[in-house]
Amino acid sequence: MSEASVGTAATRSDSSARPFDPKAVVDAVRRAAGTPNGILGLHEPVFAGNEVSYLEECIKSTFVSSVGPFVDRFERMLEEVTGARRAVAVVNGTAALHACFRLAGVEPGDEVMSPALTFIATTNAIAYCGAVPHFIDSSLTTLGMDPRALATRLEAIAERTPRGAINRETGRRIAAISPMHTFGHPVALDEIAAIASHWNIALVEDAAESLGSTYKGHAVGSQARLAALSFNGNKIVTTGGGGAILTNDEELGRRAKHLTTTAKLPHKWAFVHDEIGFNYRLPNLNAALGCAQLEQLDGFLASKRRLAAAYERVFADVPGVRFSREPEGTTSNYWLNAILIDEAYADRRDDVLTVLNEAGFGARPAWTLMHRLPMFAQSPRGDLAAAESIERRLINLPSSASIRARDE
Ligand SMILES: *Cc1c(COP(=O)(O)O)cnc(C)c1O
Repeated sequence: MSEASVGTAATRSDSSARPFDPKAVVDAVRRAAGTPNGILGLHEPVFAGNEVSYLEECIKSTFVSSVGPFVDRFERMLEEVTGARRAVAVVNGTAALHACFRLAGVEPGDEVMSPALTFIATTNAIAYCGAVPHFIDSSLTTLGMDPRALATRLEAIAERTPRGAINRETGRRIAAISPMHTFGHPVALDEIAAIASHWNIALVEDAAESLGSTYKGHAVGSQARLAALSFNGNKIVTTGGGGAILTNDEELGRRAKHLTTTAKLPHKWAFVHDEIGFNYRLPNLNAALGCAQLEQLDGFLASKRRLAAAYERVFADVPGVRFSREPEGTTSNYWLNAILIDEAYADRRDDVLTVLNEAGFGARPAWTLMHRLPMFAQSPRGDLAAAESIERRLINLPSSASIRARDE
C-alpha cells in the first residue's frame, strides 16, 4: 500500500505544526453539521414523503403479505433508478446476497474471493452456500477490494482449468469474486471485472450500501450480472427490512424471482415446486414503504452530498485526520461518512470515538475484519495490510439525510 495515493491536495492541509487533538474532531463535526438538539445519530431514516399514505393504502387493500401491487411497483422503480434490466425484491440484503451466490453457481466446497473489510452479511452469505470465503485486501482510496491485491493473490495460488479457476493450495474451485462498495464508495469495478473475466470467475457485487452511487456514469450494480442491495433501517432508503437482486440478464432475473419465491410453478390452485427454493419474498407492506422512500432518493442524495462536502472542508484543517472522499471517476452516495486518523495517531482512535459519543454524535469504528472472527479464522487469505490499517484508523461520522450541512 502506498500512503502517497491516500490524501489528495483538497483533503489534506499543512497542519503538521499543530498536535493531534481528539476534541478537534468533535469541533469539526459541529462546524460541518447543524445540530438542533445537540445530538446526531449515526444514520437515522427520514420519512417525509408518502410513507403513511402508501402503508394505509396497503392495509386497506388487505394485501399486506408476500404478494401485492407495491412489490411489483417497487421492483419497477428500482429498475428505473438503477438502470438494471431486472430487480427482484427480497426480504433483506443478506438473503439477496445468498440468492446471488446461488444464482452465480457457488456450490458447497467452493471458494469466494471477498474483502476482509466488510459487514458480516457478505461473508455469511458465502458460508450459507457451503462455500469458503477467501479474504482479499482493501484499497486505501476506495476502502473496497484492491484489484492489485486480488490479481497478486490469484497469480500466487490459482490455476485455470476446464472446470474453472482452482486454488492449487486447497484444491477448491474459486466460484465467485464479491467486491463490496464500502460506505457507498464504488470499488475499482473495471479492474476487478477484467480480473474476473481473465480467470473466468463470476462477479457478484455487494451493493448493499451504495444505492445511488455511480461508477463511470452508471449506477453501481446496474452493469452487473448479479448485485445485491439492502434496505435495512440504517441504509440510504429503507423498507424496514428488505433487499433486492439486480441483474442485466433476463433469464437470471426469472431464475432469481423463482428461487426466492419458493420455486413455485405458476398455477391458479396447484402447489407444485420444482426445486428447493427460498421464501425470501419482500412483504407488500415493506414494498409500500420502499416506494415512498425511493421517491425521495434524489433529495436524500443531495442532502448527503452537501454534508460530505462540509465534512471534507472542515477536516482539511484538522491535524492528523483525513476525510475519505469519493474515488476518482465515481460519485459516492456517502451513505456513511468516514475519516481516517493518520497512522501516527492510530492508538488515539478510541479516544476520538469516546469524545464524539460523549458529545452526542453517533460515531463508530470499522467492522472487525472477517478473518479475526472465530468462524472464519481458518479461511484462506492474502496479505491484509491495508485492511488492517483501515480497521485501526477509520471512524464513521453522523450521516443521516436529515442532517443539515452548515455553510461556512
Ligand atoms: C447492510 C449490508 C448488507 C445486508 O444487510 P441486511 O441487514 O441483511 O439487509 C450486506 N452487505 C453489506 C456490506 C451491508 O452493509
